Amino acid sequence: MPSLIPIWFDIDGTILHTRAGLGAFQKALFDTYGWQDSFESVVFAGNTDLQVLMDLSRVHAGDENAGLKDCHRLFDCMAGHLDAGLAERPPQMVPGAAELIQTLVEDPQVLLGLITGNARDCAFIKLKHVDLDVHFSGGGFGDQHADRNQLASLAKSQLSEKHVDLAPGWIIGDTPRDIEAAKHIGARCLGVSCHFSPAELREAGADEVVEDLSPNDELMALLLG
Ligand SMILES: [Mg+2]
Repeated sequence: MPSLIPIWFDIDGTILHTRAGLGAFQKALFDTYGWQDSFESVVFAGNTDLQVLMDLSRVHAGDENAGLKDCHRLFDCMAGHLDAGLAERPPQMVPGAAELIQTLVEDPQVLLGLITGNARDCAFIKLKHVDLDVHFSGGGFGDQHADRNQLASLAKSQLSEKHVDLAPGWIIGDTPRDIEAAKHIGARCLGVSCHFSPAELREAGADEVVEDLSPNDELMALLLG
């Protein structure tokens, strides 16, 4: 019996692009804490929603833990704003991402998952707007831990509890943080060049880099080989 191959996707910059997340975060931040922020001091790419909240808490309240008590209210509120924002401006797909996911879903060897900085509800709202939410269930989400490496560990342990014969698997992501998370759990990383150049992603340790996720023979052999 061949090993099962976990393949975990990041969302933003890997499956899709949207600006709606920033607006939703800003509105929810104001609704929940009364904080107004233009996000000039915050890095979103590769970061978790919890880490962004902690960075903003430091700026607005002088204590990175100040916002944590109400973070569930923040993320609920953000999900509502995000859903409305995406209805107005649908996400744009990363080339080949939908086709790759459809192909992997049909392969009985593959266990699909998510490792994303998005809070869980926000992750599934983004995927719902591109009709891909039904293909995913578990993984690691940005409201579970501020550290992306820990999200990867959570995602891996979910699968290890259910399956004994797991291959190291892959994380597919667009930033050096995705690559770091893959190394953290002994998985390989397929870099998607978008914000970062192929050279930057290779330098950060990506095992392979693509600009288009179309499931050609070469890419499928790499992921499933
Ligand atoms: Mg990303």
